[in-house]
Amino acid sequence: KNVEYDLIIVGGGPAGAYTGKIASKLGLETLIVEKRQEIGSPVRCAEGVGKKIEEYVNVAEEALAKDVKGARIYSPSNNYIDMLEEDAGAEVGYILNRKVFDQKLVEEAIKAGADVKLKTRASEFEQTEDGIRVKLVNNGASITLESKILIGADGVESLVGKKMDIYNNLKLNEIESCAQFLMTGINGIDLDYTHFYVGNEVAPGGYAWIFPKGDKKANVGIGILPNGTDKSAYHYLKKFVEQREYLKNAKILEEIYGGVPVASPLEEAVDDNVMLVGDSARQSDPLTGGGILNAIKAGKIAGEVAKEAIESNNCKKDFLKRYDERRLEEIGQKNERNYDAKELFQKLSDEELNSLISSLEEVSFESLSVTELVSELIKTNPWLSDEIDGFI
Ligand code: FAD
Repeated sequence: KNVEYDLIIVGGGPAGAYTGKIASKLGLETLIVEKRQEIGSPVRCAEGVGKKIEEYVNVAEEALAKDVKGARIYSPSNNYIDMLEEDAGAEVGYILNRKVFDQKLVEEAIKAGADVKLKTRASEFEQTEDGIRVKLVNNGASITLESKILIGADGVESLVGKKMDIYNNLKLNEIESCAQFLMTGINGIDLDYTHFYVGNEVAPGGYAWIFPKGDKKANVGIGILPNGTDKSAYHYLKKFVEQREYLKNAKILEEIYGGVPVASPLEEAVDDNVMLVGDSARQSDPLTGGGILNAIKAGKIAGEVAKEAIESNNCKKDFLKRYDERRLEEIGQKNERNYDAKELFQKLSDEELNSLISSLEEVSFESLSVTELVSELIKTNPWLSDEIDGFI
């Protein structure tokens, strides 16, 4: 037969794995290809995720490093506010062991019937009458397979997106450059909380984070916007670490570097026989940089739409547009709003950030979410509402 698969998914991260699981469950012949030799490794993530993830995935005990009580947000002058985890819909509640988490997701896709090929890089894509021909390279040998639908779940630098001409490159103000150390031996800070530091001195255009992983360990990282400074994320992270007493005796176990899209969502992430899912479709939250949950949400929609398209014998762009419509409604609207909030916060001086954070000192939050945080900021500082619509 000409067409070997209903679905070839490029990338075995959360977006690819979840799309694969849903599609396989719905009966589609699915192949996931991953260029790395191991799913989930090396980890390029701070591993924080809201407990809402459980609406989609059962987080296994081994995949969970820490269940946190709340988030502590520091102003440039080092005052802080606490957001307590009282609501299961919280934005940051779990710190994962991302490698285990990603492997479990792929395991679930396999259990549902998906094929998986590791050390296999998708390198060329060609439209055919019935679908897409995909060239795969494994250990120097190449094979060509045909699929009715191609899913680009290949992350922030998506080759599928580029080659299929679905998107143009991210601009410098649309990609956060990140550096992170996994540190051990941290002393003198409450590791039942996640910690966030904002300010132009600390992290121009972004923030620094401490995400605890249990046993005096934590992901200590920083994201900056490269157009706001000529220094690297590594430079800012080193400085951040040197300036914190509680990190003085801590040691580095791992260093991680990577980019996160903080762009407004792609309006169109489909073409004939192609859909982009996860970071490849810029689905990370532009304000927080969090992308795991959105990748999974989009994977569910993409898997369902793939099934509908194949059943209707129509995998053309006009049909697949329903994926865009659903993902823009379920993910895009919030990301659009958070993009506006990000743009605004980036313009604020350290003095303005100090005053905004101190304006929240008396507020007790109902939930640990960025939406709640920004809504409270707007209620207390109404001038902000001219800049960012739709939060309240
Ligand atoms: P990825 O996880 O990037 O997966 C893409 C996969 O595709 C990779 O495994 C890659 O090897 C594979 N691939 C690429 N090209 C090919 C090819 N041609 N052929 C075959 N395989 C290919 N998000 C959160 O929710 N919480 C956080 O705390 C958080 N912290 C972060 C910290 C840092 C430093 C960074 C860089 C990101 C962070 N993110 C965080 C974002 C999060 O990691 C991503 O949003 C998420 O991984 C997106 O999932 P994905 O499946 O779309 O892409």
